[in-house]
Amino acid sequence: MISVWEKETFFAPQDIIIAGSGFVGLWSAFYLKKRNPKLRITILDKGIIPTGASTRNAGFACFGSLTELLADEQKMGTDRMLHLVEMRYKGLEKIKTVFGKKDIDIDMCGGYELFTKEENLLTEDIEEQVDYLNELLKEIVKGNTYKLADKKIGSFGFKKISHLIRNNQEGYLHSGKLIKVLLQYVQRQGVQVLNNLEIKNFEKVNDRIEIETNQPIRFSADQLLICINGFAKKLLPQLDVEPARGQVILTSPIDTLPWKGTFHYNQGFYYFRNLGKRVLLGGARNLAVNDERTFSLQTSEIIQQELERFLNEVIIPDKKFSIELRWSGTMGIGGEKMPIQKEISPGVFCCVRMNGMGVALAPFLGEKTAKMMIG
Ligand SMILES: Cc1cc2nc3c(=O)[nH]c(=O)nc-3n(C[C@H](O)[C@H](O)[C@H](O)COP(=O)(O)OP(=O)(O)OC[C@H]3O[C@@H](n4cnc5c(N)ncnc54)[C@H](O)[C@@H]3O)c2cc1C
Repeated sequence: MISVWEKETFFAPQDIIIAGSGFVGLWSAFYLKKRNPKLRITILDKGIIPTGASTRNAGFACFGSLTELLADEQKMGTDRMLHLVEMRYKGLEKIKTVFGKKDIDIDMCGGYELFTKEENLLTEDIEEQVDYLNELLKEIVKGNTYKLADKKIGSFGFKKISHLIRNNQEGYLHSGKLIKVLLQYVQRQGVQVLNNLEIKNFEKVNDRIEIETNQPIRFSADQLLICINGFAKKLLPQLDVEPARGQVILTSPIDTLPWKGTFHYNQGFYYFRNLGKRVLLGGARNLAVNDERTFSLQTSEIIQQELERFLNEVIIPDKKFSIELRWSGTMGIGGEKMPIQKEISPGVFCCVRMNGMGVALAPFLGEKTAKMMIG
């Protein structure tokens, strides 16, 4: 039972209810309010804090490594690959316009892709591939994006690496700080954010969307926007979105860490960066693709061991360190890389399937979603 005060304030009918307070839900609220400050918007999240990928990722502010984009081009064609890059690139520009370094520790310090000696992948004609992709990206990204940086291999101290490709246009940020400033920003604009509320069902009743949650409270809104990414299957089973667990480890500080930046390996399946003097490494999901198709937030022995092996044998082979933290997060992936952003039924919209690169996509898609919902 709820009181009249509760009913008329916290649970009053809304113009828009957003499911999910990850980057996509928050950037959507940001742009909806920008378009119409009077909108009554409530965001419902099942976690006590946002508990999907946005607070559990690696914080890369990136749009794709050379091998990842070439693999995407093979699968989805040149135009669609470039469209994806453009959305990510424009998303990064938006983040930089709205928030500064001191808000979110953003540093576009550049990144690298590593190629191991065993890999025959691309290394034969690597310079051709660099020129080819730079030419394709010219319309989207200012200046050349990729360049061979083999000379750095020695000073970085990597083992088993035969090539390095530098990307001048990417960097990293602090995902926790970004989500917190976004939350504070939208709340200051009057958006209500309620936690511990999992949307279980929704239906159209007359002209409104009635929303059922795990609590004995029903919500009602003119429009519902579903931004639950890897959890989409639970509410929208018709969509091609699967959960994909991403696992991460963080080392203790290493005083003599000889490199800085974001690093990709094996078409983006492995990624690492420095976080101050610590190393944050994630990935290796390709070792156990089926097991990692899970909503579980545990870590698994096989992936954790592989991440440690990669640290010890390739990234920091001569350094002493311990593992300070281990965690995992849930990505939303599908048969293709494009996000799903559409009106599913009258008044019900979704923006899901970020395919492991939602930091950059979210602001771009948030703005587009706001346009789609309130023209
Ligand atoms: C380990 C890891 C590393 C990554 N590294 C990077 C990176 O470096 N750079 C990058 O760009 N991307 C990275 N990603 C991907 C990126 O984090 C995601 O693409 C992005 O955060 C997705 O944002 P989102 O808002 O769509 O989803 P999420 O952040 O997952 O947010 C969804 C929210 O919905 C809530 N929710 C779920 N179901 C319900 C429900 N029924 N009712 C109410 N609320 C619900 C969840 O609690 C969650 O807060 C990584 C992901 C992982 C897991």
